[in-house]
Amino acid sequence: MDDIRFSCLSCTGEACEFETGGNPPQCVEGLASDAVKQEVHDRYREPDNHRIMKAAALTSARCGNLTRVQETMEFAARIGARRIGVATCTMLLEESRILRKLLENAGFEVFGVACKVEGNHRSDLGLPQADGAEGSVLCNPLMQARLLEEAHTDLNIVMGLCVGHDALFYRYSHAPVTTLVTKDHVTGHNACAGLYASKSVYRKRLRETVEACREGTLPME
Ligand code: SF4
Repeated sequence: MDDIRFSCLSCTGEACEFETGGNPPQCVEGLASDAVKQEVHDRYREPDNHRIMKAAALTSARCGNLTRVQETMEFAARIGARRIGVATCTMLLEESRILRKLLENAGFEVFGVACKVEGNHRSDLGLPQADGAEGSVLCNPLMQARLLEEAHTDLNIVMGLCVGHDALFYRYSHAPVTTLVTKDHVTGHNACAGLYASKSVYRKRLRETVEACREGTLPME
């Protein structure tokens, strides 16, 4: 599948959501062979995935009336989670403590690991600076994932891990992961505001980032 010029992002999405039958000729559904479709549908029948999908279906049906905090709690209860891990940014410890209280009141056990666990500096993680400076303490998403695994959590909740650190946490988390907070210091953790900003006076600042990525002028070290 080399040609990705047409994707769902070029479509209204109405045909699949409202079953209008008006799928575009390039509908991505046609990219999945019968074998791939079977493989994916079989995967939903695996007990763990079935449990998660069933809980998600029930929970998302009420998403218009519940905050994400409430949805997260309901989802956790529906998958039968008993012990919940919280992988938190240190900057969001206060919010994570509020979450812990809510979860504990709802009958869950809660174990949290903050991003700066172990207090590593760049050289500890094989990332020395050219000038030899130690810099500030680095986040440690792999240790967060590992410690939550050691604690046998049934579900892990991400609270504002940095871009990239979250990618590693998701990859190495032993338990299923859901995200409650997507960190964005500039917008009060409302990442969508960064998209809406493309239509505001902020668009000039946004363009600087777009151009630096396109032209390869971002610092890489
Ligand atoms: S699945 Fe098909 S109809 Fe739905 S958004 Fe994608 S291309 Fe459009």
